[in-house]
Amino acid sequence: MTQTGVPQERKLVTAIPGPRSEELLARRNAAVAQGVSIGLPVFVTAAGGGIVVDVDGNQLIDLGSGIAVVNVGNANPAVAAAVATQAAAFTHTCFMVTPYEGYVAVCEALNRLTPGDFEKRSALFNSGAEAVENAVKIARAYTKRQAVVVFDHGYHGRTNLTMALTAKNMPYKHSFGPFAPEVYRLPMSYPYRDEDAGLDASGPAAAARALSVLDKQVGAGNVAALIIEPIQGEGGFIEPAPGFLAAVAEYCRANGIVFVADEIQTGFGRTGHLFASEHEGIVPDLVTTAKGIAGGMPLAAVTGRAEIMDAAHAGGLGGTYGGNPVACAAALAAIEEIERRDLAGRARRIGEIMLPVLTGLAERHSFVGNVRGRGAMLAVELVEPGTTTPAAQLAGAVNKACHQRGLVTLSCGTYGNVLRFLPPLVIGEDLLTEALDLITDAFDEVAKSLPAAEAAPSPRPDTD
Ligand SMILES: *Cc1c(COP(=O)(O)O)cnc(C)c1O
Repeated sequence: MTQTGVPQERKLVTAIPGPRSEELLARRNAAVAQGVSIGLPVFVTAAGGGIVVDVDGNQLIDLGSGIAVVNVGNANPAVAAAVATQAAAFTHTCFMVTPYEGYVAVCEALNRLTPGDFEKRSALFNSGAEAVENAVKIARAYTKRQAVVVFDHGYHGRTNLTMALTAKNMPYKHSFGPFAPEVYRLPMSYPYRDEDAGLDASGPAAAARALSVLDKQVGAGNVAALIIEPIQGEGGFIEPAPGFLAAVAEYCRANGIVFVADEIQTGFGRTGHLFASEHEGIVPDLVTTAKGIAGGMPLAAVTGRAEIMDAAHAGGLGGTYGGNPVACAAALAAIEEIERRDLAGRARRIGEIMLPVLTGLAERHSFVGNVRGRGAMLAVELVEPGTTTPAAQLAGAVNKACHQRGLVTLSCGTYGNVLRFLPPLVIGEDLLTEALDLITDAFDEVAKSLPAAEAAPSPRPDTD
């Protein structure tokens, strides 16, 4: 499926991490700020397709894509070639000083690909957080209002304004305040936990609860923007109940609020559509993108209705590096790969392969509370056996057991109890099947460590 030079085969030749990684870890501890933490301490020398190679010669199966970034595969050959060609021509001029075609071409592509067939404009930035900040600037300039509304479990970045927009204290906000004012948080539709709380978990009912808070505590007329991830990422891969997003979008339309879909994690084919808003036919006013946009090069964007995007005055938006020419060349190559190889279709196929196995885990283990996700954005929420109480320790244990088996896996969630799977969309099906067997093993191993009465897994079905 992928023309990478990296052998598409899992191989463990040392413990995880191995001795060379341990050496580098010691150097890292002496040189790198502790605030920048590491999930799986194997130091990487190469990666491609579905494999990450470390300094000890281990080859791990990639189920993280560098947090949903390398959707087209790591060091995708088309992306690498575009980067090399552009870097040899020129690496930077600053688009605001002397412009270049690549920036314009990326904006044209985003205007064409994002939901909505109205006239659009885009602006390019370096990181997802920067895109979200600029969406707020633009919405405030357009509406002449100040308030920004976000949701429980939402994640929008680590800069000052986006820390305020992000829900979770640890590790994102703790000790870093004060935060930006005029940010208000609404309850999210979280079907698994809404049901558990005895609430009506339907989308329209959850939207009514959220919009009532907005109405009573903020006042629609004060709200510049409502920002929502169509499927929440860091907060736990929470997929709102059907009808929730539509009701929220409709309220925004009726009240002159700029509806911003933060598609930074869900975008570029990840969920089986190019953008997750498309699953329910939602058409946002503005879309923020980053992560999957450029095959691993840092780039981000805000795209949306021309009249909103053009509300910010000339010189009001920008930055030294925003839309760097090398990153733009990478984005054009990545977007071409996504379209030409129908990687959104590949994401759907990945979901078809993975979801039944993950659902099987929930049937066998009483500590698997909920399995959810779309396409190649899938999650398993872990709970204390037989309850709905979040079990972060168990998620950590399964995650670690996956690492030991040569899988790059990640956890997430407000309660830290969600394992998430984000394979590159170009991963081979044999690697995916092998990864699912190893995930099943990892769950079994953790089940064995539980008190017998609680754990007893039902017999393992034949997964092949
Ligand atoms: C990762 C992420 C961000 C922040 O992007 P950075 O590039 O890390 O600044 C914002 N929103 C969502 C939904 C994300 O997943």
